[in-house]
Amino acid sequence: MTHIVTVGFASDGKLNKSLFELIGAAKSFENTELSVVAVGSTIDTNELVGYGVKKVYVVDGLSEYQPESYLNAVLKGLDALKADIILLSGDSIGRELGPRLAIRKGFSLFSDVIKLKETNQGLVVTKPVYGGKAEAEFLNKGETAVVLLRPKAHDKALKSDDVAVEIEKVTFEASGFDGLVRIIEKLKDEGEGVKLEDAKIIVAGGRGVGSKENFSYLEELALVLGGSVGASRAAVDAGWVSTTLQIGQTGSIVAPDLYIAVGISGATQHMAGVSAAKHIVAINTDAEAPIFSFAEYGIVDDYNVILPVLTEKLREILS
Ligand SMILES: Cc1cc2nc3c(=O)[nH]c(=O)nc-3n(C[C@H](O)[C@H](O)[C@H](O)COP(=O)(O)OP(=O)(O)OC[C@H]3O[C@@H](n4cnc5c(N)ncnc54)[C@H](O)[C@@H]3O)c2cc1C
Repeated sequence: MTHIVTVGFASDGKLNKSLFELIGAAKSFENTELSVVAVGSTIDTNELVGYGVKKVYVVDGLSEYQPESYLNAVLKGLDALKADIILLSGDSIGRELGPRLAIRKGFSLFSDVIKLKETNQGLVVTKPVYGGKAEAEFLNKGETAVVLLRPKAHDKALKSDDVAVEIEKVTFEASGFDGLVRIIEKLKDEGEGVKLEDAKIIVAGGRGVGSKENFSYLEELALVLGGSVGASRAAVDAGWVSTTLQIGQTGSIVAPDLYIAVGISGATQHMAGVSAAKHIVAINTDAEAPIFSFAEYGIVDDYNVILPVLTEKLREILS
């Protein structure tokens, strides 16, 4: 029996949503025991009832993220649970803690994983390679593996199992190394509306949008559709929009139902963040732009001509 331990974090008592993606991935394995290490403050473990989780090891008393303290808390949980596979979300916290965890314990590490499966030889993970142009499978030869699952790569687990959850709760005790990294200032994301990662509709703009002011056309369309605005790195680098709007390999990974790409060429590094979008619509003056090979619908024209008409028509239909 494989013991999979998923790691979750809680701020204001609520566990992060990506933990339920990890549980979903773990449940696709047969013959497994599933546990959770939950780190944070005032964690509500009731949230984990009904997902087939057998044990939850809670390290409480950490009110805000701090790499060393979180790492020590996760290590404490892992020492108690003895995992074969440790699943963390490949978000900013996971990407910071995963490698440290693997080094401290001598485990294997697999980052940016999009799929994982059990084989006779052991755990096999799938990762995108060559900037998302291909996928490669890797076999874990070590005993224990730390796997960073790309956010949105797996559906969240559905509630079904009525397994009684065993809960062990400890209060975090600081050690000499805690506090080596201190949070000096927290900047609030100025973005309005739905977070990009959770948006069902995204209107994203690239270099072809031409200026900061012109992004208002995209904002208007997003408003009409109840969606969010995103951007390519070229638009971010030009200073037209905040870095928090960047989508792609070095930005957010999104999974909307509808992705409207405006003046975006479709570089592999951009598309790496959009591969889970259900429907892609592209507006681009260049009929040869790579974006058209990803798009279900394409409009070859100047967005200055298309967007105002499209926005008006949609406003009419949706009102
Ligand atoms: C290590 C690394 C990581 C990277 N990470 C990211 C990432 O996370 N996200 C990301 O986006 N990029 C990333 N990049 C950059 C990426 O390679 C591309 O350079 C970038 O995505 C290009 O952005 P773009 O499509 O907006 O610009 P361009 O490639 O310049 O495309 C602009 C498009 O606009 C069209 N256009 C021009 N005028 C109009 C108009 N009036 N109407 C309609 N269409 C018009 C053009 O035909 C063109 O296709 C990364 C690169 C590297 C090396």
